[in-house]
Formats: sequence, structure tokens, C-alpha cells
Amino acid sequence: MIAEVIVDIATSETDRIFDYICDDDMLVGSRVSAPFGPKLVTGFVMRLKESSTYPTEKLKRIAKVLDDVPALNTECLRLAEKLASRYRVPKALTLRLFLPTEMRTGKVRELTRRYAVLVEGKEMKFPKSAKNQISAVEYLRQNGKTDCAYLNQAFSGSVKALEKKGYIQITVEQVKRNPYQSVPAESVERTLTDDQLRAVNTVQTDDRTVQLIYGVTGSGKTEIYLTLIADCLKRGKSSIFLVPEISLTPQMLSQLRARFGKNAAILHSGLSAGERFDEWWRLRTGEAKIAIGARSAIFAPLENIGVIIVDEEHDSSYFSETAPRYSTFDVAHVRAKYNGCKLVLGSVTPSVETYKRAREGEFSLIRLQKRINKKPLPEIIVADMRREVRRGNNSPFSSALKEELEKCLETGNQAILFLNRRGYSQTVTCKECGYVAKCKDCDVSLTYHRDEDCLKCHYCGTRYSMLSACPDCGGKKLAYGGTGTQRIVEQLQKALPSARILRMDNDTTSGKEGHYKILKAFAEHKADILVGTQMIAKGHDFPSVTLVGILDADMSLHFADYRSGERTFQLLTQVAGRSGRAEEKGKVVLQTYDPENDVLRFAIAYDYEGFFDNETSMRAATAFPPYSKIVRVLVTGEDDKKTIEALRTVYVGLEKIYTDNPEKFLFFNKMRAPIKRIQNKYRYQVLMRLCDVSVLPEIYDICADAKTRDVLVSVEENPTNLT
Ligand code: ADP
Ligand code: ZN
Repeated sequence: MIAEVIVDIATSETDRIFDYICDDDMLVGSRVSAPFGPKLVTGFVMRLKESSTYPTEKLKRIAKVLDDVPALNTECLRLAEKLASRYRVPKALTLRLFLPTEMRTGKVRELTRRYAVLVEGKEMKFPKSAKNQISAVEYLRQNGKTDCAYLNQAFSGSVKALEKKGYIQITVEQVKRNPYQSVPAESVERTLTDDQLRAVNTVQTDDRTVQLIYGVTGSGKTEIYLTLIADCLKRGKSSIFLVPEISLTPQMLSQLRARFGKNAAILHSGLSAGERFDEWWRLRTGEAKIAIGARSAIFAPLENIGVIIVDEEHDSSYFSETAPRYSTFDVAHVRAKYNGCKLVLGSVTPSVETYKRAREGEFSLIRLQKRINKKPLPEIIVADMRREVRRGNNSPFSSALKEELEKCLETGNQAILFLNRRGYSQTVTCKECGYVAKCKDCDVSLTYHRDEDCLKCHYCGTRYSMLSACPDCGGKKLAYGGTGTQRIVEQLQKALPSARILRMDNDTTSGKEGHYKILKAFAEHKADILVGTQMIAKGHDFPSVTLVGILDADMSLHFADYRSGERTFQLLTQVAGRSGRAEEKGKVVLQTYDPENDVLRFAIAYDYEGFFDNETSMRAATAFPPYSKIVRVLVTGEDDKKTIEALRTVYVGLEKIYTDNPEKFLFFNKMRAPIKRIQNKYRYQVLMRLCDVSVLPEIYDICADAKTRDVLVSVEENPTNLT
């Protein structure tokens, strides 16, 4: 038998099929170890065949099969090939998407435990001094099979001695790590509302593959998803349930555990390498049938998929920012088609592109306009910060917000304040000479972190010690510009001395259960106010929160990005949804310097359709996505000269496509990237806007060819982040 193998080396030279001789019982999808040049390398068996076009005596033999069960199923193999050709990356790279990284690096093993049993009918003799051995035998006689670790601890050193004498027999068994021991399983049985039933019914009976559930905050989308999953389970089918990483909240985890127990495998970054490895194998072997996780869970090793659900489908985390820069939606769509199942997208604020396709009938559109608890959505009060400044209020809190905060605390309720900037101040500048503290590897200013009294680069993470004086002029007067979450907490504490305040941002949520701890403390009312970045905007359900303050609603409006309006609308709607989830009516104070702005006006009125119409007519007029496709080719490298050289090569190639097909381009230009350097790499870009994507494969080809050892050339389609 001949195996067609892709070796796990991600270069263009090795990116082709190599034939190997293998045993007749070889299975497609197996990970194997095979001789490659002077070394053994890992590879994947893509296909099997009877004979090779190469002479047999030249073929080498596969050395070893690495796993008992082939790591990849046929669907995953074909999908990996498809993605490799779509994004012009080596197949090794796309195959890796389907495996837990721990498996490739070989750092994690199955967790095993040794057990001892007495050997039957053996005559035993012990010297009097061997008290531990005698007690251990006695223990085994009474209790049967016992964990060796326990025996050694209770009867020190006895296992080895007994094993040597042949009195006990050792068995090694695999144990699965259980990542959720600390999460209580809380189950609430619910009868679906008519709206929910209708949604479930539509998903199951409508012919279209993609089903968009567009439902207001609190309309009970989660319950719909869980019902669909449970139904698949009943029919012996598996499911994939994707959520933004940040939404895997304690509430969500315990609900899932209660509902599906061992059938659910939850994959997220909070798991240890070993836990992820075990969860993955449980899916692969069919022990678990539901894969729940962030973006990468779309590559779960499942077969016979009955439904794929993407919650908060508009979330930017569904786009990969490293090669291959796949869109989770596209991958999910391919898998849904392959399995003949539905792809369910859910959102309160669908992305403009998705909603457009749903309105035009390509996707099924399921609207849920009622909240389960029938409560009106929270009232949004607009605080005009220009007026505040004119009145002499220079604090980050408007008088309206301050008043509402006081009321909220008096009544024993909780509040959430939202600011999308972490750290203490955004910049540190010298008042004398204007020096700005910047990262030495990135072209960005440093953020002051008061907790640790240091400066941090938010792009590469480097820490610098705080300045005592200006390094340029020696001046001692430093100014802190731009307010971050740390400074807000400080000023809030001054304004409301008795309030108990918690902070949640990237700095406070590190560690395995970082989010969990803060959210739990807040849920248990151990604090009155939670201050945080956009990570608090999603999916958390705190019944006693009656007030939400949005400190700087304009911030994300001013990014030079066609999606900034869309993103602002989504963020405001989500943040507002945190208020008034239970009995009491919620309020939102939205602070802005630009109260007449269209996006804000629609957000305040909870008018998604209005926003959508306004936004689409604007994008149609200016020919921005979804009426065109933005393509950015990013060229980055440590050596500026070599990077510019590569840029030139790419540009020449792309320019040819452009001059040959001018009618397919709306825009074409090369320039420096907005941030000129990140992590010590120079950055240049060629920016294009296409009205016809038929030239896309050629663009990918040019870029794949221009890549060198020192310079990375990547293609981004409708990039979410244009820095
Ligand atoms: P969404 O995700 O659409 O914002 P959720 O799924 O969080 O809404 O549901 C909102 C609230 O309603 C949750 O507290 C949930 O427990 C509750 N809920 C959902 N469905 C039902 C139901 N059928 N009966 C009673 N309560 C429900
Ligand atoms: Zn940096």
C-alpha cells in the first residue's frame, strides 16, 4: 500500500505530496512518523493508493503510526486542502488548525494513573519490620484495586517493594482531566416561549443552510441554541457551538455542564494544555458530541454534525489575525454544507454584511423582538460632555452619571462603567519639551500603569520602568494624557468614597480563572461598581445591575475604518444590554462630545434597522463593503531595506493586475501602514478596493511568491484592524 503524505513542515518547498510505502492496515488521516532526508518527521496521510508513479525501490517506508485513532477525519483533510488553496498557505499550516497545538509539540501526554491489585493465591512472607508492606497488603485485601499514589502516600514506599516481590500487579490506566471541577452545574428547566419555538422550528424546517437569528437583548437566544443542540444529541448527531472567548462566562459554563454533562467538550484558552488535549480526544473518539469554544473550535474533530451555531456572529474575534487569515463564517459554511446541516448565526446587532444577505433572502431571517421578561429596554440618557466642560466639570463623570450612580448605590443596586482603554493614562509626555514616551520596538506611545508603576506597550507587551524625569531634557514635570480604566477607578473612588469598586480589563484577568473570579465577586455583590473595557460588554447577566455608564461613546467612532460606525453601534447596544436584566428597570448614561451623530442616535433609539438602512446607503454611495472588497497586502520585516525591496516586488506584480483589469479596482495605492513599526518590524501596505473579486487568486499568488525568509507578506480581506 502507498500513502500520500504531507509532511508537517510549513514551507512552500515541502508543500507537496510525498509517497511512502505503508502497511495494509494504514488509515487515511493518520499522523505518522516518516523518514525525510536524514531525519524522521511527522506527516499526515492524506490518501491511500495501490501504486506509486515513483519506482518502488526509491520509496521509503513509514516508520510509525503516531495515534491509535487517525487524528483527522476525511472531512477535515479535504477542508484543510481547500483552505490551503484558498489562502495560498502550505497544507501543513492548515492541517495544524485541526489539532490541539499540544499534540504537535508532543509536550502533553495522556494522563495515566497506576493501580495495584493483589496477585491471587500467592504466598506472602514479610519480615516483622515491613510494617508498611503488611498494612498495604491488608488494605488491598479489603479495598481491591487502589491507586498506587495513594498506597505510597499511606504506606510509604510499599508499592515498589511489593511489586518486586511479585505480590501485586500494576495496571496503567488513562484518566481524563476534568477542567470544570470548580464550576457548579446549575440546571434550570425551561419551557420555550412561542417565539423560541417558532425559531427552533424555522431552523429545522427552512431549506436554506444559513439561519440568522436576529433577536433583541434578552430575547432568549441561548435557550434556542441549547434546544437545537439537545435535539441533535437525541438524534445521535454532534454539534459545534461557537461563542466569543469572552462569553464563556461562569453562568454559561455551568448551564452547559448541567445540560449536557460529559457530552460537552469545552475548548477555551483558560484550559491547561493537558485539559485541552483530553477534551479534544473526547471529541475525536465520539465520547463527547458537542464542541463549545471560541473561533478555533470550528475545527473540532467531529463527524456527523447536526448543527453549527455561531453566537454573536458580528464579533471581530471570528476573524483570524494570523496566517491563514480565515473567516470563521466561511469555514463554518463549508462544514455545514459538507454535513448537510444548518449554520445558525445569532446576534443582537448582526454585521451589516450578514444582515444584508438575510434581508435579500439568501439567508433565512428569524426576528425575535420581545424580551423574555417583557421588560422594556433600558432608557438611555445622553450626557453632552461639551456642556459639562462649559459648565466647568472637567471630571470624566457627567453630572447625570454622578447623580444616577448615587441613586443606584443608595438603593443597593449595582452599576457597570465602561471605558475602552486600559491602564492609567494613554500617554506620558514632558511638559517642558513635548517628549512622548514611546516603545522602542513599536511606533506607539506607552501607557502608564499605576498598579505596577511602569509603562507598558499595548502592542507588544514590553514593560519599561516609569520615568522619573524626561530622558530628553531632564524636565521633571510629566503630563498624563488620556484616561484609562485605572485612573477612572481612582477618580471614581474620590467621587464616591464609600463605593466598592472592581476593575476588569486585560490587566486584571490574567491567569486561568481571571475573568471568572472577578465576575463571580461582582455577581456575589462583593462590589457595587464594575469598571471595565469592552470585555464586560458581552453576555454577562447580572440581575442587580440597574445602571450602565458609557464614559466615552465617541472613541471607537473616530477610527479610520469603514466599520467604525458599525462597531460603535454594536458596542453601545451590547453595553446597554447589561442594564436592567432582572426585575428593576435599567438606565444607561451615554457620555458623548457628539450627540447629533447618526450612529449614536440610532443606538439610543435601539433602532438597528434604521442604523442598517443609513449605513448601507452610505456604504453603497461610497462603494465600501459589502458593496466592494477591501484587500490589504501587508509587508513586514525587521530589516527596513529588505522590507521595502519586498514591497517593491509585490507592488510591481499587483500593479500589473491593476493595469490589466482597471475596471475591477476602485482603489489602488501603496503606503506606509498607519503604525509604522510593531514588535521591531517595519510595516508597509498596498491597499486595494475591488468591485470584482475575480482577481483575488492572482493577488494571493503574487504575495505568496514575494514572501522571503526575512519578510512576511500577508493578504487581508476586509481587515477588521487597519493599524
Ligand atoms: P439573549 O442571549 O437573547 O440576550 P438570553 O438567552 O440571555 O437572551 O435570555 C435572557 C434571559 O431569559 C436569561 O436570563 C434566560 O435565562 C431567560 N430565559 C430564556 N428563555 C426562557 C424561557 N423560555 N423561560 C424563562 N426564562 C427564559
Ligand atoms: Zn511595543
